[in-house]
Amino acid sequence: MAQRLPAIFLGHGSPMNAVSTNSYTEAWRLIGERTARPKAVLCISAHWYIRRTAVTIGPKPKTIHDFGGFPSELYQVEYPAPGDPSLARRVQALLAPLDVALDDTWGLDHGTWSVLRHVYPEADVPIVQLSIDETQPPSYHFEIGRKLAVLRDEGVLVVGSGNLVHNLHAYAWGRPDAAPLDWAVRFETEAKRMMAAHVFPKLIDYETLGRDAMLSIPTPDHYLPLLYVLGASQADDAIAFPVQGIEGGSLSMLAVQVG
Ligand code: ZN
Repeated sequence: MAQRLPAIFLGHGSPMNAVSTNSYTEAWRLIGERTARPKAVLCISAHWYIRRTAVTIGPKPKTIHDFGGFPSELYQVEYPAPGDPSLARRVQALLAPLDVALDDTWGLDHGTWSVLRHVYPEADVPIVQLSIDETQPPSYHFEIGRKLAVLRDEGVLVVGSGNLVHNLHAYAWGRPDAAPLDWAVRFETEAKRMMAAHVFPKLIDYETLGRDAMLSIPTPDHYLPLLYVLGASQADDAIAFPVQGIEGGSLSMLAVQVG
Protein backbone atom coordinates (compact mmCIF):
# COMPACT_ATOMS: atom_id res chain seq x y z
CA MET A 1 0.00 0.00 0.00
CA ALA A 2 1.31 3.41 -0.88
CA GLN A 3 1.69 6.05 1.77
CA ARG A 4 -1.70 7.67 2.46
CA LEU A 5 -1.84 11.04 0.79
CA PRO A 6 -3.78 14.02 2.08
CA ALA A 7 -6.83 15.46 0.37
CA ILE A 8 -6.72 19.19 -0.23
CA PHE A 9 -9.28 21.91 -0.93
CA LEU A 10 -7.71 24.91 -2.64
CA GLY A 11 -9.32 28.34 -2.87
CA HIS A 12 -8.48 29.35 -6.44
CA GLY A 13 -9.75 32.95 -6.58
CA SER A 14 -9.07 34.99 -9.68
CA PRO A 15 -7.91 33.23 -12.86
CA MET A 16 -5.06 35.76 -12.86
CA ASN A 17 -3.45 33.77 -10.06
CA ALA A 18 -2.42 31.38 -12.82
CA VAL A 19 0.09 33.93 -14.14
CA SER A 20 0.86 35.74 -10.89
CA THR A 21 3.32 35.30 -8.07
CA ASN A 22 1.82 36.22 -4.72
CA SER A 23 1.40 34.81 -1.23
CA TYR A 24 -1.25 32.36 -2.45
CA THR A 25 0.71 31.02 -5.39
CA GLU A 26 3.80 30.69 -3.19
CA ALA A 27 1.77 28.70 -0.67
CA TRP A 28 0.48 26.44 -3.46
CA ARG A 29 4.06 25.86 -4.63
CA LEU A 30 5.06 24.85 -1.12
CA ILE A 31 2.16 22.40 -0.94
CA GLY A 32 3.57 20.72 -4.03
CA GLU A 33 7.05 20.59 -2.56
CA ARG A 34 6.00 19.33 0.86
CA THR A 35 3.40 16.76 -0.13
CA ALA A 36 4.50 13.26 -1.08
CA ARG A 37 4.46 13.09 -4.84
CA PRO A 38 1.21 11.52 -6.09
CA LYS A 39 0.98 9.26 -9.09
CA ALA A 40 -2.08 11.23 -10.17
CA VAL A 41 -4.47 13.99 -9.12
CA LEU A 42 -8.24 13.67 -9.07
CA CYS A 43 -9.57 17.23 -9.18
CA ILE A 44 -13.11 18.38 -8.46
CA SER A 45 -13.36 21.90 -9.86
CA ALA A 46 -16.12 24.44 -9.29
CA HIS A 47 -15.97 25.10 -13.02
CA TRP A 48 -17.16 21.69 -14.17
CA TYR A 49 -20.65 22.04 -12.76
CA ILE A 50 -23.00 20.06 -14.97
CA ARG A 51 -26.11 17.93 -14.82
CA ARG A 52 -24.39 14.63 -14.14
CA THR A 53 -21.37 12.97 -12.57
CA ALA A 54 -18.61 12.42 -15.11
CA VAL A 55 -14.85 11.87 -15.21
CA THR A 56 -12.42 12.92 -17.90
CA ILE A 57 -11.14 9.89 -19.78
CA GLY A 58 -8.83 11.55 -22.31
CA PRO A 59 -5.10 10.78 -22.19
CA LYS A 60 -4.20 14.34 -23.24
CA PRO A 61 -6.70 16.74 -21.63
CA LYS A 62 -6.88 20.13 -23.28
CA THR A 63 -6.35 23.36 -21.35
CA ILE A 64 -9.74 25.10 -21.22
CA HIS A 65 -9.76 28.92 -20.99
CA ASP A 66 -13.21 29.14 -19.44
CA PHE A 67 -13.37 32.85 -18.59
CA GLY A 68 -13.82 36.15 -20.36
CA GLY A 69 -12.33 39.62 -20.27
CA PHE A 70 -8.84 38.79 -19.06
CA PRO A 71 -5.46 39.81 -20.54
CA SER A 72 -4.38 37.84 -23.58
CA GLU A 73 -1.44 36.26 -21.73
CA LEU A 74 -3.92 34.23 -19.71
CA TYR A 75 -5.35 32.72 -22.90
CA GLN A 76 -1.86 31.67 -23.97
CA VAL A 77 -1.34 29.46 -20.93
CA GLU A 78 -1.21 25.76 -21.66
CA TYR A 79 -0.98 23.18 -18.91
CA PRO A 80 -0.15 19.95 -20.71
CA ALA A 81 -0.47 17.51 -17.80
CA PRO A 82 -1.45 14.07 -19.09
CA GLY A 83 -4.72 12.39 -18.27
CA ASP A 84 -5.03 9.02 -16.58
CA PRO A 85 -7.71 6.84 -18.18
CA SER A 86 -7.06 4.02 -15.71
CA LEU A 87 -7.79 6.35 -12.79
CA ALA A 88 -10.96 7.53 -14.53
CA ARG A 89 -12.14 3.93 -14.77
CA ARG A 90 -11.15 3.30 -11.16
CA VAL A 91 -13.31 6.27 -10.08
CA GLN A 92 -16.18 4.95 -12.16
CA ALA A 93 -15.85 1.54 -10.49
CA LEU A 94 -15.59 2.98 -6.98
CA LEU A 95 -18.78 4.99 -7.45
CA ALA A 96 -20.82 2.12 -8.92
CA PRO A 97 -23.76 1.62 -9.04
CA LEU A 98 -23.85 5.35 -9.61
CA ASP A 99 -23.84 6.02 -13.34
CA VAL A 100 -20.59 7.89 -13.96
CA ALA A 101 -19.96 9.03 -17.53
CA LEU A 102 -16.52 8.68 -19.11
CA ASP A 103 -16.18 12.08 -20.76
CA ASP A 104 -13.86 12.87 -23.65
CA THR A 105 -15.08 16.43 -24.29
CA TRP A 106 -13.87 18.25 -21.17
CA GLY A 107 -10.25 18.75 -20.24
CA LEU A 108 -8.66 20.88 -17.54
CA ASP A 109 -10.62 24.02 -16.67
CA HIS A 110 -9.06 27.01 -14.96
CA GLY A 111 -10.25 25.85 -11.52
CA THR A 112 -7.76 23.05 -12.01
CA TRP A 113 -4.85 24.45 -13.98
CA SER A 114 -4.71 27.95 -12.47
CA VAL A 115 -3.67 26.39 -9.15
CA LEU A 116 -2.01 23.13 -10.19
CA ARG A 117 0.45 24.89 -12.46
CA HIS A 118 1.85 26.34 -9.22
CA VAL A 119 1.65 23.07 -7.27
CA TYR A 120 3.20 21.03 -10.11
CA PRO A 121 4.92 23.53 -12.43
CA GLU A 122 6.32 20.80 -14.65
CA ALA A 123 2.80 19.55 -15.53
CA ASP A 124 4.14 16.04 -15.01
CA VAL A 125 1.48 14.66 -12.67
CA PRO A 126 -1.48 13.10 -14.53
CA ILE A 127 -4.85 14.71 -13.82
CA VAL A 128 -8.42 13.45 -14.00
CA GLN A 129 -11.33 15.79 -13.38
CA LEU A 130 -14.57 14.71 -11.73
CA SER A 131 -17.64 16.83 -12.44
CA ILE A 132 -20.05 18.25 -9.87
CA ASP A 133 -23.64 17.18 -10.56
CA GLU A 134 -25.59 20.39 -10.07
CA THR A 135 -28.88 18.52 -9.72
CA GLN A 136 -27.84 16.75 -6.51
CA PRO A 137 -28.03 17.87 -2.86
CA PRO A 138 -24.89 18.65 -0.84
CA SER A 139 -24.95 15.26 0.91
CA TYR A 140 -24.49 13.55 -2.47
CA HIS A 141 -21.15 15.29 -2.94
CA PHE A 142 -19.94 14.46 0.56
CA GLU A 143 -20.86 10.80 0.02
CA ILE A 144 -18.89 10.67 -3.23
CA GLY A 145 -15.92 11.98 -1.28
CA ARG A 146 -16.34 9.14 1.21
CA LYS A 147 -16.35 6.56 -1.56
CA LEU A 148 -13.23 8.08 -3.07
CA ALA A 149 -11.28 8.21 0.20
CA VAL A 150 -9.58 4.90 -0.62
CA LEU A 151 -7.78 6.59 -3.51
CA ARG A 152 -5.62 8.34 -0.93
CA ASP A 153 -4.07 4.93 -0.22
CA GLU A 154 -3.50 4.33 -3.92
CA GLY A 155 -1.20 7.27 -4.55
CA VAL A 156 -3.92 9.65 -5.73
CA LEU A 157 -4.13 13.21 -4.47
CA VAL A 158 -7.77 14.28 -4.20
CA VAL A 159 -8.04 18.03 -4.81
CA GLY A 160 -11.14 20.21 -4.55
CA SER A 161 -10.87 23.62 -6.19
CA GLY A 162 -13.36 26.34 -5.34
CA ASN A 163 -13.68 29.03 -2.67
CA LEU A 164 -15.21 28.67 0.79
CA VAL A 165 -16.57 32.23 0.60
CA HIS A 166 -17.34 33.31 -2.97
CA ASN A 167 -19.58 36.36 -3.31
CA LEU A 168 -18.69 38.31 -6.43
CA HIS A 169 -21.57 40.77 -5.96
CA ALA A 170 -20.01 41.99 -2.74
CA TYR A 171 -16.47 41.80 -4.15
CA ALA A 172 -14.44 45.01 -4.12
CA TRP A 173 -13.34 44.92 -7.76
CA GLY A 174 -9.90 46.43 -8.24
CA ARG A 175 -9.25 46.46 -4.49
CA PRO A 176 -8.02 42.99 -3.56
CA ASP A 177 -6.72 44.36 -0.25
CA ALA A 178 -10.17 45.62 0.82
CA ALA A 179 -11.03 44.74 4.40
CA PRO A 180 -12.81 41.40 4.73
CA LEU A 181 -16.55 41.80 5.23
CA ASP A 182 -17.76 40.88 8.68
CA TRP A 183 -20.09 38.09 7.54
CA ALA A 184 -17.32 36.55 5.45
CA VAL A 185 -14.98 36.47 8.43
CA ARG A 186 -17.66 35.07 10.72
CA PHE A 187 -18.60 32.29 8.32
CA GLU A 188 -15.02 31.35 7.55
CA THR A 189 -14.16 31.29 11.26
CA GLU A 190 -17.17 29.13 12.07
CA ALA A 191 -16.46 26.77 9.17
CA LYS A 192 -12.83 26.39 10.24
CA ARG A 193 -13.92 25.65 13.81
CA MET A 194 -16.25 22.88 12.63
CA MET A 195 -13.68 21.43 10.25
CA ALA A 196 -10.94 21.40 12.89
CA ALA A 197 -13.32 19.51 15.18
CA HIS A 198 -14.32 17.05 12.43
CA VAL A 199 -17.94 18.17 12.78
CA PHE A 200 -19.26 18.03 9.24
CA PRO A 201 -23.08 17.70 9.34
CA LYS A 202 -23.72 21.44 9.47
CA LEU A 203 -21.17 22.06 6.74
CA ILE A 204 -23.04 19.57 4.58
CA ASP A 205 -26.38 21.21 5.46
CA TYR A 206 -24.87 24.65 4.99
CA GLU A 207 -28.18 26.01 3.73
CA THR A 208 -29.43 25.83 7.34
CA LEU A 209 -26.53 27.86 8.72
CA GLY A 210 -28.19 31.24 8.30
CA ARG A 211 -27.42 34.59 6.79
CA ASP A 212 -23.62 34.52 6.99
CA ALA A 213 -23.53 31.23 5.10
CA MET A 214 -26.03 32.40 2.50
CA LEU A 215 -23.98 35.52 1.80
CA SER A 216 -20.80 33.46 1.66
CA ILE A 217 -22.30 30.77 -0.59
CA PRO A 218 -24.77 32.54 -2.91
CA THR A 219 -24.39 29.63 -5.38
CA PRO A 220 -23.14 26.13 -4.52
CA ASP A 221 -20.53 25.66 -7.26
CA HIS A 222 -17.46 27.02 -5.45
CA TYR A 223 -18.41 25.51 -2.09
CA LEU A 224 -19.23 21.92 -3.06
CA PRO A 225 -15.65 20.89 -3.94
CA LEU A 226 -14.90 21.27 -0.22
CA LEU A 227 -17.47 18.59 0.63
CA TYR A 228 -15.64 16.03 -1.55
CA VAL A 229 -12.43 16.73 0.37
CA LEU A 230 -14.12 16.54 3.77
CA GLY A 231 -15.82 13.34 2.66
CA ALA A 232 -12.42 11.86 1.84
CA SER A 233 -11.14 12.53 5.36
CA GLN A 234 -10.62 9.90 8.03
CA ALA A 235 -11.45 10.38 11.71
CA ASP A 236 -7.78 10.49 12.69
CA ASP A 237 -6.71 12.96 10.02
CA ALA A 238 -5.19 16.22 11.14
CA ILE A 239 -6.94 19.15 9.48
CA ALA A 240 -4.83 22.14 8.55
CA PHE A 241 -5.31 25.41 6.71
CA PRO A 242 -2.10 25.92 4.73
CA VAL A 243 -3.38 28.96 2.82
CA GLN A 244 -5.43 31.74 4.39
CA GLY A 245 -6.71 35.15 3.37
CA ILE A 246 -9.81 36.94 2.11
CA GLU A 247 -9.48 38.89 -1.12
CA GLY A 248 -11.61 41.86 -2.09
CA GLY A 249 -13.66 41.56 1.05
CA SER A 250 -15.69 38.53 0.01
CA LEU A 251 -13.46 35.88 -1.59
CA SER A 252 -11.87 33.41 0.81
CA MET A 253 -8.61 31.90 -0.41
CA LEU A 254 -8.63 29.34 2.40
CA ALA A 255 -7.03 25.98 1.70
CA VAL A 256 -8.06 22.95 3.75
CA GLN A 257 -5.76 19.96 4.02
CA VAL A 258 -6.94 16.73 5.59
CA GLY A 259 -4.27 14.23 6.54
ZN1 ZN B 1 -13.76 29.99 -9.82
